[in-house]
Parts: sequence; structure tokens; C-alpha cells
Amino acid sequence: MPPRPRRSAPLALTHAAALLTLLALLAGCTPSSQMPDRPLTVTPPAAEEEVDDGALFGRVDTSRPFLEVAMVDVGQGDGIVLHGPEGRVIVIDSGKGGAPIVSYLKGRGVQRIDLLVLTHAHADHIGGADDIVRGFEVLRVLDPLVEHDSTMYSKLLAELEQRSIPVMEARLGRRIQMGGGVELEVLGPPQPHLHGTRSDPNANSVVLRLVYGRISILFTGDAEHETEEILMKHAAERPLASTVLKVAHHGSRYASAADFLALVQPQLALISVGEGNTYGHPAPETLERLGKHTPHIYRTDLSGTIRLLTDGKRITLIPERGDALP
Ligand SMILES: [Zn+2]
Repeated sequence: MPPRPRRSAPLALTHAAALLTLLALLAGCTPSSQMPDRPLTVTPPAAEEEVDDGALFGRVDTSRPFLEVAMVDVGQGDGIVLHGPEGRVIVIDSGKGGAPIVSYLKGRGVQRIDLLVLTHAHADHIGGADDIVRGFEVLRVLDPLVEHDSTMYSKLLAELEQRSIPVMEARLGRRIQMGGGVELEVLGPPQPHLHGTRSDPNANSVVLRLVYGRISILFTGDAEHETEEILMKHAAERPLASTVLKVAHHGSRYASAADFLALVQPQLALISVGEGNTYGHPAPETLERLGKHTPHIYRTDLSGTIRLLTDGKRITLIPERGDALP
């Protein structure tokens, strides 16, 4: 084969010079009638702008605004705290007893909670909510408002009413602006609410999808397969694809179906689960299904409290025990 002709350096320079001349003509010598009215503004890149290599896991610059999600080690249950880029705080569930999450919040200097989400009325999710309500200024509560025969839940609702804390219904499509570009959308409970499932309180859990830049996080409460079926049916209008999955129901086998995970495509899975729990959570088959999507599966029983920092582009994961990511 004949060698490919290479453009000689002098020719390339000539081209560059011609281009520069053309640009100069366009900028300075074109009649004003042919120029747009708006002046051309060119913003130089910030001096300290980091190169964005597109990698998901990287060092988040905490001198700039960022979102932090802490999956607090509450034992068997859920207790998650979101610290927004503008300082707002959202708490999703409270654990069975309030002590671990209250201690975490006090340690972080939190005084006011902008939103307390109660995903469903089981004790391992709302058992510590009265401690949170008494210990902090809670501005409002988001709840599925599914009828549930539970003294603990009735007492909690009475306490919220007595303290004049407004309770918003978690209605499909409701959007919550956390500030700084963080938005949460309510994807569940399904409407109408599910009945006759293995566990209706679980199946009607509040499901939230958080979006911040190119990072998304799906919070699933203790959703059941039936919940996932409905979420999948509406995935065209309410997307499920999420960078991070808060695995439903402590990794039980009654959730995280293969076809559901195929739509979520998680790159990081977080499981809130108590060490040596009697339910066998997380189920080996659920871990196996998750493992087909990501090698990054973190559990509070092994890692303790798990902190996730994100600037909307990349994630730094800091477990209490074990190695951080990256
Ligand atoms: Zn639970």
C-alpha cells in the first residue's frame, strides 16, 4: 500500500493563518447589518476547574456545594439523612428506636429538619419518629397516609397534630425541591393504593427518586414485588434508572426483582440491615441479582453508617468501617 500523504507542517500553518484571518474579518470587518445584535461573550474556564473524566467514583470537592446522604446504622430498619447543598435536611425513616439517628443528627449539629419522610407505618421505620419530633424542629412530614391499624402510628399522627406539624400525602408525581438543584419526585405508593398483597404497608411504601445533576438515587422503603410491577409499568413517564439504589426491604427476597433491577441499572446499592437479624436479610438471591449490575454493594451491618457525598457528577462513599470509594 502506498504511504498515506501527510499534511506538511508549513501547509497546516498556512491553514491556521487563513482561519485566523477569516475570524478577524468576521469579528471586526463584517458590516454591522450582518452581525447579531447580542455581543458575543466568552467565559473563560475557572482556573481550578477539575478535569471531568466521566468516572462515577471520585473525590468530591467539599469546598463547593454538595449533597450528602447518610444511611445511618440503625440496626434492623431504615434511617437515612439527606444534607442538601444549601443546608436543608431531609430524614427518611427513623429506625425502630430513635437513639442512633438522634445521636447522628445531634453529632452533625442539625437542629431543624425540613422534611421527615415516613415511608410506611412499620416500627423499624417509624419507631424512632417521636424522638425526632421531640428532639428537633420538624417543619413537615411526608407520609403515604395509608390506613393502618397500629397504635404506634396513631400515636405518632396525634403527636404531629398536637405539634401542628403539617403532614403531606405522598402523592404520585409530587416534586420536592431541596435547593441547590436537588429534586425528589414521589414515585410511590401506587395510586390507588395496593390491597391484598403479602404486606400492604410495605407495598404502599413511599418511593422517592432524587435527581442531582447526573446522579440519581432511588429510595424504595420496603416496596414489594407488586410495587415494582406498577413502577415498571409507568417507567416511561416516571423513569426508574438510578445511579444509586437504596435496596428495598433490607434486601429481602420479596423485592428487587430481576426485571425491576434491569430498569433501575444501579451502579451502587445500599442496604440498611441489622447484624444477625432473624429475617435472613439480605437474602442471598437478592444479593446475587444486585451483583449482576454492580460490584458495589454496601450494607450497614458490615459497614456501619454509610456516607455518600456527591456534587452531581461523581460520588465519594465513606463507610464507617472498611474501605472508602474511590
Ligand atoms: Zn423495614
